[in-house]
Amino acid sequence: MPKCDICGKPTTSHKIEKVYVCHTCWVNRSGEVESMREEIELAKIFADNVRNSGIVISNKLNGVVTKYELYEIMAEYQDMLNNSLFLDPDGTLYIKIESKVSERLSNLIFKFALEEGWPFLLDLIKVYDPDNEEVIDCSTILNAISRMVILTRHKEGVEGIPVEALEYMVKFHEAPDTEWEESFVCGWGFDHPDFRFKEILEQAVEDDESIWASGILEPAFYADQKKAAAILIEFLRKDYVSNVDKMKLVQAVTFYTDAKWDEPDLLPRYWDWKRAVDYGRFRWDDEVERALKDAIEEELADYIAEGQSKVIHDTIGRIADSIPAYEIDFSKEWSLEDLGI
Ligand SMILES: [Zn+2]
Repeated sequence: MPKCDICGKPTTSHKIEKVYVCHTCWVNRSGEVESMREEIELAKIFADNVRNSGIVISNKLNGVVTKYELYEIMAEYQDMLNNSLFLDPDGTLYIKIESKVSERLSNLIFKFALEEGWPFLLDLIKVYDPDNEEVIDCSTILNAISRMVILTRHKEGVEGIPVEALEYMVKFHEAPDTEWEESFVCGWGFDHPDFRFKEILEQAVEDDESIWASGILEPAFYADQKKAAAILIEFLRKDYVSNVDKMKLVQAVTFYTDAKWDEPDLLPRYWDWKRAVDYGRFRWDDEVERALKDAIEEELADYIAEGQSKVIHDTIGRIADSIPAYEIDFSKEWSLEDLGI
């Protein structure tokens, strides 16, 4: 039997939402019953507010005129995401709220960034620092920064990108999925004079984050395939980098694009950068492609062949560890696309 929430006696006499009160308390401790009722009512309002916050915030964003109004709503959004985790630690509610707000908020931050330039975003970076535990979600800021990085590179050249923005993106190398992926876009700044890109790649390989390293190397190919290929080849030639890591790094030419360099890119989200900057069509330069293929063949052919034989002998029929390039045949003419999983 349920117990009275005030005295603990088993009872079903009175009920407020999910809470029981015995009849004695109901009569003799009516003051306590009343404040309990208020508390329950407030909790209900709180929960309703959080549940509806996705739509409410999204609507408010429609009316934003000044950046100060935007700041206020962004703060409210953080609070609501935080509250949602309190109500629903599984994160289902969080995802529901985020899905209502994320695209619209990213677009609006980007709009202000276009109007006010980099200083606007650099101010946001200071507030929405992922190292600050109170900050819940940075993905919308990261998205707007990603767009500005690509745009600035095309309009002004790589030096026009503030290095703080690139360093900010790197902070998300261990973030949950959305931010982790969006951080790949920092590769657009790979040849910035103040950006320690190669050092970051080294560190990532050392920390067993070679997939992330390949993720940030991938956009570098869009930016300048010749220079990007030189970096990839440099890593393929390093004796201390394991074959497993080399194989992951090679995915810089296959992983996100799925080797379809000529089709719309998925990053950054909500924005077709190829159209925005009038990129045209990506084509492999013959010399670059040749150099890449030579390096891959020389460094990885044996390793890949070994992986392929394991796949063939795998009696369970699984493709062991989804080895990339498991169908490639180096004895015949092959293309970089064949490296895909
Ligand atoms: Zn009682």
